[in-house]
Amino acid sequence: MEYLPLFLKLTDQPVLVVGGGVVAARKIELLRKANARVTVVAPIVCDSVATLIAQSRIQHLAEEFRPEHLDGVRLAIAATNRQAVNAWVAHQAEVRNIPINVVDDRELSRFIMPAIVDRSPVIVAVGSSGDAPVLTRRLREKLEAFLPERLGALAKFAGGLRKQVKRRVSDGSARRKFWERFFDGDIAADVLAGRDQQAQSAVDDALVAVGNNHEQPVRGEVALVGAGPGDPGLLTLRAFRLLQNADVILYDRLVGPQILELARRDADLISVGKSAGCAPIPQEQINALLVEHAVAGKRVVRLKGGDPFIFGRGGEELETLVAHGIRYEVVPGITAAAGCAAYAGIPLTHRDHAQTLVFVTGHAKSGGVSDNVDWVALARPGQTVVFYMGMHTLPNIVARLIENGASPALSAAVVERGTQSSQRVIVANITDLVERVAAEKISSPALLIVGEVTRLHATLGWFNTNEGRESLANGMLSA
Ligand code: SAH
Repeated sequence: MEYLPLFLKLTDQPVLVVGGGVVAARKIELLRKANARVTVVAPIVCDSVATLIAQSRIQHLAEEFRPEHLDGVRLAIAATNRQAVNAWVAHQAEVRNIPINVVDDRELSRFIMPAIVDRSPVIVAVGSSGDAPVLTRRLREKLEAFLPERLGALAKFAGGLRKQVKRRVSDGSARRKFWERFFDGDIAADVLAGRDQQAQSAVDDALVAVGNNHEQPVRGEVALVGAGPGDPGLLTLRAFRLLQNADVILYDRLVGPQILELARRDADLISVGKSAGCAPIPQEQINALLVEHAVAGKRVVRLKGGDPFIFGRGGEELETLVAHGIRYEVVPGITAAAGCAAYAGIPLTHRDHAQTLVFVTGHAKSGGVSDNVDWVALARPGQTVVFYMGMHTLPNIVARLIENGASPALSAAVVERGTQSSQRVIVANITDLVERVAAEKISSPALLIVGEVTRLHATLGWFNTNEGRESLANGMLSA
């Protein structure tokens, strides 16, 4: 870290600005917002500086800079259009250990000014150590758009309650929980929407409630969360928030390390992954772990690849929670079919090729392909059929489809590690596909998409193609 970010209190503190042009005006404006006592040294000033001087308590010395101007100041800014003067001011400030900023010259500057989003008392400062000011501004614009208008009002509201909450809820972790609920819940929503009165009465109720039962054990809860197919950018905001709040995270093999990185630093990460070859952790044991941690008062996230309700046994886990009276919520995720199709440039439906979309498991409890699925229906034209867990049984799937009337020339795709940087896509007719998959040594996870739409990959593929267009998905600025 080349710079230490900090917030400096300048109320009534003497600050020197050397220069009287428009650049200086912007700095003066900012310093005035921070209630600094500004002195401007400049033989002549531009109109906007003159207006500022006329409007506020700004002292103007209409003369050339002299080192004595720095006497007793907290901070100095050199903003003239003469490099030699700026360098001279900077040198004099350095000699006196006064933090100096020279506008647009980080070599001469001791401190630099970040881009800011001002929702006082919340202030977000963004910097790139001077390397990429335009990037910094873009980030600032995004934050400006993303952060609620009344964020400052919310912070003030919370600030006004802090003492009261501290008195009522002595236990530190119960207090943290109170605040997390406060910011995630209806009270904060009311404040953000400007319904302060409603918020105030809800706070009173909430305080009575925590005050009464904070000695009782805290109630745990489980969030069944879909992590999507791999690219962390495909997590939902809700999933992200829950990961940052979780005490315990039980995750599957399909959930990659980049996603686990987003968990709270001190969360307990437990792998319950089933991987081919290794003995799977029995579902009953996973269910038991969920119950155990929730009963112990933990906020548990059960993190699953894709969507928890699509071939994820999410329903079975919830049944256990219901049986134990444990509170839960379900957060949908982007399922492999949606993620792989998008990143492979394969529209799953298309007016010319597919009016029906089917998700089916390629894997039966017995180990082979399932007889419980309607192979005649799956073999019909005019649809897209997505097989999850279909790699081991790929030859059987293809044989069944052809037996039941599918054309041997029907196009299909296999997407390996969809949405991840190592994604590979194979498109071939179903007869050739088996051989191609074996030759390319496709490994898990991989998804089989059967249908004429897969031909569109050739023209619509964009991610990890040779043209390098994957940068579109990775570039944060294109979001
Ligand atoms: N709940 C998950 C599916 C779990 S079943 C979801 O909604 O996506 C596991 C199967 O999903 C794998 O065998 C594979 O067929 C598919 N799958 C999951 N993630 C994948 C990925 N990133 N790329 C390709 N296939 C994937």
